[in-house]
Amino acid sequence: MEHRTVMTSLSESILYVVATPIGNLRDISLRALDVLATVDMIAAEDTRTTGYLLTHYSITRKMMVLHQHNERVAAAKILALLAAGKSVALVTDAGTPGISDPGAILINMVKEQNYKVVPVPGPSAVLCALSAAGIDASHFLFYGFLSAKAGMRRRELEKLKLLPYTLVFYEAPHRILECVSNLAEVLGSHRQLTIARELTKLFETIYTCALGDALKWLQTDPNQQKGEFVLLVSGAEIQHVTEIDEQTKDVLELLLEELSLKQAVKLATKITGKNKKLLYGMALLLKAEKEL
Ligand code: SAM
Repeated sequence: MEHRTVMTSLSESILYVVATPIGNLRDISLRALDVLATVDMIAAEDTRTTGYLLTHYSITRKMMVLHQHNERVAAAKILALLAAGKSVALVTDAGTPGISDPGAILINMVKEQNYKVVPVPGPSAVLCALSAAGIDASHFLFYGFLSAKAGMRRRELEKLKLLPYTLVFYEAPHRILECVSNLAEVLGSHRQLTIARELTKLFETIYTCALGDALKWLQTDPNQQKGEFVLLVSGAEIQHVTEIDEQTKDVLELLLEELSLKQAVKLATKITGKNKKLLYGMALLLKAEKEL
């Protein structure tokens, strides 16, 4: 493995995408500090939050605002800076830009103009939570925030229900009880949940229990309902699905392209002679994977 330990020397007309701490201010890379201390402009989601970080490290650079409501306008300003040979760093309030945060629109616009985009990696709540949860993370699906509306949230969860991957959600404190109760209701109370709260901060909590027991645990101690949350749910048991061979899966996939789920399962049962329940489970999984 090649290691580069040289200090970042800044080039012109580059957009740096810089990850910043999710709580503990010391969780910032030396390279991120190099870049922030030397770029011509820092585009921040909230200049007060980033200002606090910069002051902590005695960095004084020019800042501008880029958030989800002004991303296009701010991006146009950044393009003008890049055209003038300047370097810009994009940061958000916490963690990695673009992960449930603005960044994608700007980066696409910068790439369209053939300017270089350089990532400077660092903290992200999703990986921080997964790293310490002890939950299988060989495959995981990062969903981020579920809908704020209860009906829509349930429909989103229905689509995820049969996926055999660890599911990762972000959630805000005012919706945590509602969200956990929906997770148990739709995904099943037996599944394992890890609540990762206030990561890297003073009241950091990483607690694992059965989904069905989580609501009670949260209600017992209102302090556990405060702060920022990552929720990790173990994947659906797939034993029954793996019993289906590739050929049957292909038949089902073909039928699903033309027919409703119910009709496709009915016909697939006739064609293959396989168990209808197994085929139904497989069909739901195929449909959910397609809709994601
Ligand atoms: N870009 C960030 C990242 O890379 O993780 C995420 C930004 S998103 C707007 C904010 C959400 O991330 C919070 O509502 C919470 O779900 C999660 N989050 C951020 N910091 C966290 C922390 N210290 N502990 C737990 N969750 C956190």
